[in-house]
Amino acid sequence: MTKALRSTLVLTRDGFRPAAVVVDGERITQVIEWSDAPADADLHDFGDLAILPGLIDTHVHMNEPGRTEWEGFATATRAAAAGGVTTLIDMPLNCVPETIDAPALEAKRQAAKGQAWVDWAAWGGVVRGNTDAIEPLAKAGVPGFKCFLIHSGIDGFTWVGEADLRLALEQLRGTDLPLLAHAEVTGPVDVATRALNAASADWRKYSTYLASRPDAAEVQAIELLIRLADEFGVPIHIVHLSSAQALPILTEARRRGLPVSVETCVHYLWFAAEEIPGGATEFKCAPPIREAANREALWNALERGLIDMVTTDHSPCPPAMKRREEGRWDLAWGGIVSLGLALPLMGTAMRRRGIGLERIGEWMAAEPARLAGLTGQKGAIEDGADADLAIFDLDAEWTVMPADLHFRHKTSPYLGAKLRGRVRQTWLRGEPIYRDGQFIGEARGKEQVRW
Ligand SMILES: [Zn+2]
Repeated sequence: MTKALRSTLVLTRDGFRPAAVVVDGERITQVIEWSDAPADADLHDFGDLAILPGLIDTHVHMNEPGRTEWEGFATATRAAAAGGVTTLIDMPLNCVPETIDAPALEAKRQAAKGQAWVDWAAWGGVVRGNTDAIEPLAKAGVPGFKCFLIHSGIDGFTWVGEADLRLALEQLRGTDLPLLAHAEVTGPVDVATRALNAASADWRKYSTYLASRPDAAEVQAIELLIRLADEFGVPIHIVHLSSAQALPILTEARRRGLPVSVETCVHYLWFAAEEIPGGATEFKCAPPIREAANREALWNALERGLIDMVTTDHSPCPPAMKRREEGRWDLAWGGIVSLGLALPLMGTAMRRRGIGLERIGEWMAAEPARLAGLTGQKGAIEDGADADLAIFDLDAEWTVMPADLHFRHKTSPYLGAKLRGRVRQTWLRGEPIYRDGQFIGEARGKEQVRW
């Protein structure tokens, strides 16, 4: 039976408007006037709750297979579903085997069977010496590749220098698949760390950690990536931009029409270095959260479209690895957990700043869909797209408690955050999968294979 979901606030590519979304099977067939909902349809009237496109998070570490005690398909995808996120793209490094060749991708597909509550895909990895695995991974359907320009934290996922990048970009030329890069180079980090250690800096202070990952590491990495995007014409995507000092060179690259896109993460837009307590290693991530003035510059770049999208970089570990008792930033595992909170966090922050919530559709759905090659199928409420939808109560006020978090380990720096706006329901391909704290049905998530 045809369904119609309607509200006075449906987010389309043209902004919010009263509308009815007509769904036949798994797809949206029409977006029509609110009052035109077909009489014979199964009508779901959401009143003044917003209907948003299901969000797409292109930067998530699910850690399965191999480190399921860190996270896993089941817990990560349930956390996503509870937050209105209907597609996750997994990073290739924290699983065993790392997703650096086609057999490893196949192992991931086996691990995902019957576990995924939302749709997903897996980025392939570019590491030292895997040039020959790039084409088979592309043919096996990955939407693109991820690399590190600095130690990734995982010894089995080696970082690459310019020579390796050139080999990889040669393979990617003409495929239309993007290369995603962790944009910090090791030189400035090594120099800063040596100087801090020589001065016996206190590693329980956040300022020590921040000083160990200077802006220059990001700026130099991005300079290199821009140069290579220009030379090879391959789309290069800067993941988790933290340093506003890189914005001028990115502005110039855009002006020249180079194929460079940029994401930042919710934590760089929400927190500021000045507010992070000593020893609070749940805030550790790389690149680091910088000062409030830097955060303001990132918001500004996002508003003017220089930063294309916002992801979570949800990157969990077992709580013991955060070494909270010692509180040493140099010893703790890096990675912030937040999957499922991005929409209310961004909604709350945007309201405070007077930014229209319609930009959520661009920053957290349409642009990530473009990066993952899913435009037309996902990322917007429009004819022919998958009926992936988030029903969002704009005015619900709540405080983040452990029971609200559905990922495996609840060591999140967002605990206690006071938020405005809450996901009431999430629909995946035409059926509800989450409603007011309850998961509905079974894990129906499908891999999105790119050809
Ligand atoms: Zn990451």
